[in-house]
Amino acid sequence: NIVKQYVDGAFTAIDNISMTLNEGEIVAFIGPSGCGKTTMLRLISGLEQPTSGDLSTFGETIEGPGPDRGMIFQAYTSFPWLTAKKNIEYGMKIMGISKAERSAKADDMLRLVHLEKFADSYPNNLSGGMKQRVAIGRTLAQNPKILLMDEPFGALDAQVRWEMQEMMIEVIEREKKTVVLVTHDMGEAGFFGDVIVLMREGRIVQQGTLSQLINEPADNFVERFIRAQRTALHVLEE
Ligand code: ADP
Ligand code: MG
Repeated sequence: NIVKQYVDGAFTAIDNISMTLNEGEIVAFIGPSGCGKTTMLRLISGLEQPTSGDLSTFGETIEGPGPDRGMIFQAYTSFPWLTAKKNIEYGMKIMGISKAERSAKADDMLRLVHLEKFADSYPNNLSGGMKQRVAIGRTLAQNPKILLMDEPFGALDAQVRWEMQEMMIEVIEREKKTVVLVTHDMGEAGFFGDVIVLMREGRIVQQGTLSQLINEPADNFVERFIRAQRTALHVLEE
């Protein structure tokens, strides 16, 4: 029963949402701009507190950011004064992990995100896709059970975006993460999502698999939304 209001209660961004995410699932939140996707993700991350209602992970109420959840933002969040490897080590350093362990883990993460040749490069000398891979490596190195991603590839051009999506599927499967992804792209939602949650004006309109949304739309809105996104879905069918 999560409610999130802004402007002293004058605006309701999340309007009484109740849902359960299962461990190991990839859940994709989708919907028009302003429907509340980012707000939902920020509530799960603990960066925002609900006006009313409860969120919990593994039976513990979410009261703020926690080590069980790792966030990957759209804007590359790497430190320009640190090399790719040092960026990946940074979170582990904060966590108090020993230098040797940090270094080994960072090397493993660099391989995982296909950046092993760029360990000593600085972010400003890396492409947008590579910078985002550094940020992904850094988040994964802290070993969160749940990965939270807000339009993670939205700033990348189509080809790089596709490569990143392919890489990310590999990463999620190898690392066995539970994933909550926010996207406005149905193609991306269908590519990743075991479950797709379609939102409208702070509510869930339909929650199900891609084929359920296509073949059994809950209402006209779902049908129109899917139709408008046909080009994105076409890519998936190929
Ligand atoms: P989405 O990510 O689906 O595009 P958001 O979750 O960012 O949507 O925003 C949902 C609604 O809440 C929007 O109308 C947005 O303007 C509003 N909103 C988000 N954050 C704030 C805030 N801090 N103050 C006031 N309104 C906000
Ligand atoms: Mg958003």
